[in-house]
Amino acid sequence: LDDAREQGHALARYQGGGEERQATLHFEAALADALNQGEFDLHYQPITDAASGLVRGAEALLRWHNPELGFRSPAEFIPVLERTGLIVPVGAWVLHEACRRASTWGGVPVAVNLSARQFQQGDLLGTVRSALQGSGLPPECLKLEITESLMIQSPERVQEILLGLRQMGVQVMLDDFGTGYSNLSLLRNIPVSGLKIDRSFVTALERGENASAQAMIRAIVQLSEALGLDTVAEGVEHAEEHQLLRDLGVTLLQGYHFAPPSATWNPEPHCPSGVVAAV
Ligand code: C2E
Ligand code: MG
Ligand code: MG
Ligand code: MG
Repeated sequence: LDDAREQGHALARYQGGGEERQATLHFEAALADALNQGEFDLHYQPITDAASGLVRGAEALLRWHNPELGFRSPAEFIPVLERTGLIVPVGAWVLHEACRRASTWGGVPVAVNLSARQFQQGDLLGTVRSALQGSGLPPECLKLEITESLMIQSPERVQEILLGLRQMGVQVMLDDFGTGYSNLSLLRNIPVSGLKIDRSFVTALERGENASAQAMIRAIVQLSEALGLDTVAEGVEHAEEHQLLRDLGVTLLQGYHFAPPSATWNPEPHCPSGVVAAV
């Protein structure tokens, strides 16, 4: 009898003790349904030429709104999508949707974030090819953002896929550069066309660490120039950062100073060639 009672208590503890666990399960169940329920959306944030101020691209950023759970941050749900493998179908949706949208931008490229899982499971090359073909977006108008950590698991497979992407004419950017497990030999082995300097370096410019942040940004710019790569600085929030980064030689800038990510963002319509605006 005691045993049975003890088991009952244990069960109650298990069930009750799990308010947090219940919330997690609810969150994961809602996320598993989100794609079919049409709860995902993409926001776009422009990437601006540091010298001319012209828009050179935009990054697609995933947003999730659930009627019960409200708006949830990518920092919270992307890791769950990755752990459960849902990032593979969701990531395919992101690629199709971003290419469809960018096909109306008149040649302004779109950047799409990829997770390691998308290189390990599913058919990434096939997905990218169908997103391009379905939308009519030229391959040079698609940039894929990967992180250094991608190379930790199955580097041969990743390298093969990256080569396939390059053969297709799609560009690859190294995101959050300088934070991860920065291995410079990576830059020799994988075909990237640019580096996105992590926001933490830009943030450090504003704080007491100005001198060391500047030195590191300068070093990344020199490396990029030597390798013929673009540099993008993320998280530019102030005019002083814009100036400083431009003077340090960073070519492209992204951040709230220019525009926050938005669902309705579109590049300025192109002036038809040959037509000069009257002054
Ligand atoms: P990320 O790729 O490094 O994207 C830049 C993040 O910085 C975005 O956060 C953007 O909203 C934020 N940001 C832009 N400008 C500023 C600024 O001036 N100040 C500050 N404080 N933040 C700024 P978000 O949208 O929350 O996304 C977070 C991360 O989630 C992304 O970092 C990316 O790693 C991941 N992510 C977003 N969408 C996708 C997706 O479709 N697929 C995958 N696999 N990951 C995604
Ligand atoms: Mg990114
Ligand atoms: Mg980043
Ligand atoms: Mg990031």
